[in-house]
Amino acid sequence: LSPVPSDLEISRAQTPKAVDVLAKEIGLLADEIEIYGRSKAKVRLSLLERLKDQADGKYVLVAGITPTPLGEGKSTVTVGLVQALTAHLNINSFACLRQPSQGPTFGVKGGAAGGGYAQVIPMEEFNLHLTGDIHAITAANNLLAAAIDTRIFHENTQTDKALYNRLVPLVNGVREFSSIQLARLKKLGINKTDPSTLTEEEISKFARLNIEPSTITWQRVLDTNDRFLRKMTIGQAPTEKGYSRQAQFDIAVASEIMAVLALTDSLTDMKERLGRMVVASDKNGQPVTAEDLGVTGALTVLMKDAIKPNLMQTLEGTPVFVHAGPFANIAHGNSSVLADKIALKLVGEEGFVVTEAGFGADIGMEKFFNIKCRASGLVPNVVVLVATVRALKMHGGGPSVTAGVPLKKEYTEENIQLVADGCCNLQKQIQVAQLFGVPVVVALNVFKTDTRAEIDLVCELAKRAGAFDAVPCYHWSVGGKGSVDLARAVREAAGQGSRFRFLYDLQLPIVEKIRTIAQAVYGAKDIELSPEAQSKIDRYTQQGFGNLPICMAKTHLSLSHQPDKKGVPRDFILPISDVRASIGAGFIYPLVGTELEPRGSLAAWRPH
Ligand code: ADP
Repeated sequence: LSPVPSDLEISRAQTPKAVDVLAKEIGLLADEIEIYGRSKAKVRLSLLERLKDQADGKYVLVAGITPTPLGEGKSTVTVGLVQALTAHLNINSFACLRQPSQGPTFGVKGGAAGGGYAQVIPMEEFNLHLTGDIHAITAANNLLAAAIDTRIFHENTQTDKALYNRLVPLVNGVREFSSIQLARLKKLGINKTDPSTLTEEEISKFARLNIEPSTITWQRVLDTNDRFLRKMTIGQAPTEKGYSRQAQFDIAVASEIMAVLALTDSLTDMKERLGRMVVASDKNGQPVTAEDLGVTGALTVLMKDAIKPNLMQTLEGTPVFVHAGPFANIAHGNSSVLADKIALKLVGEEGFVVTEAGFGADIGMEKFFNIKCRASGLVPNVVVLVATVRALKMHGGGPSVTAGVPLKKEYTEENIQLVADGCCNLQKQIQVAQLFGVPVVVALNVFKTDTRAEIDLVCELAKRAGAFDAVPCYHWSVGGKGSVDLARAVREAAGQGSRFRFLYDLQLPIVEKIRTIAQAVYGAKDIELSPEAQSKIDRYTQQGFGNLPICMAKTHLSLSHQPDKKGVPRDFILPISDVRASIGAGFIYPLVGTELEPRGSLAAWRPH
């Protein structure tokens, strides 16, 4: 229709097919789905076993130029591309998208189902509770948070013996260790299985974790934009007075449990990762884990349904998995390994799976390659890099924009110079993708004010910078048929074969890995570590966590640490203010500059 109706009007005008019909169409058996309502289902992991001998399809990553408030449309391109592949070129394809957070959904960004005639439907179900995965993450996260403070409280108020009796209660007059407790005894060097044989000293060692409260890194989380919970004092009831401490609420979707969900490949692996999560250090500087607190089983059972990917559909009835999380600035911002793995089997060898990394290629895509592909072992075939003429104009020095105020004429009328100047950002992001040896197709998401000359210029400059192809896309205004050229270009690029490689070797020291990302990807001259960051790096290295990949927490609004520096900033030194470790998810987590709060305390909520 012209003019194109609102995203919501388009979504509501289309009735989705029943999800069991969709499931059947894509080859799922009746007992492999769990239906939630009419248009959503969870898919059981048993499918991976049934299809284990099936060859994988082609794996495509959608990433973007450095975001601006003018928007790029990565989700829209992802959906447009699968609509084009499946509904117009007759090639099996799947989109794997991230589940949006309630913060941006009710904030500046709005939803994340795509837009125009390239959307996942029903939009409300996609954007809001879906099947409750974020609620499960919140419940598991906060159970662990409660276990930490409760443990400290009990250890401070009870004798060794009383603690021990609480941990290993008498059942029918008999005391028995659980398997978790036996594992902990082993870790402590106590090779006993009979509780009645422990000495007083061993009882004390077993019963006390001796958590040092100032080292607690595990925060409570919430998916609601509640700024008054950013910082708080907990333990103020008369019964807990004396154990009050400063704490904060972080955003649930950027939590370590969300990262575990995204990176795990089975229930067993998820359980191990949840158990390995480090929440604090003890008084001797040794890491304290969720397993030490004895809650691994509880966390796993809370997450047992969340681990199954959620099946939905596009406006054109093609299949979509929605699973795991957003926020590529403060988290890794990629959807789940399991959704991608299942989709790659379902589409078959000739098919395509299109997944999306958050924000600019410098963060979302870099983490997709170095963290997610390392966890999954999957090899990407093509990168689709999304750009818009308007966003490139801003990178070329176009004026800033204010929400609610009409766009200045630089963005609504032809301005070849601004586009030419802004293409430096696109060219830099193409080069970043090429560092990983994967062919790049640029998708120019066309807005109705873009002129022919502007579109041609972007495509020409992208190809000159080394893109395999660069194609204007019109899916937003006309649906999948507007992205058929993109789909053809992606199919051709996939035929080139990928020479995929990681950017850094895991064996490098943590500092060298950070420096490699800063210099090769962001274009920094060097990095500068705060004393805090250096001492954390020393501690994590000494604790044996030096060989993990790096998940930089950096502003998404610039290649540098300064959000107002558009285009391609040069000659900057990247400040690393602190370093955290997400041992269960499996990465070291440096905080770049002072803009971002660790784990996205509610202050740092931004679109994804
Ligand atoms: P991203 O994934 O990069 O955050 P989205 O795909 O979610 O961006 O798109 C953000 C918003 O921009 C959506 O509301 C969408 O309808 C709108 N949008 C995307 N592409 C276009 C376009 N070509 N013309 C007009 N609006 C668009």
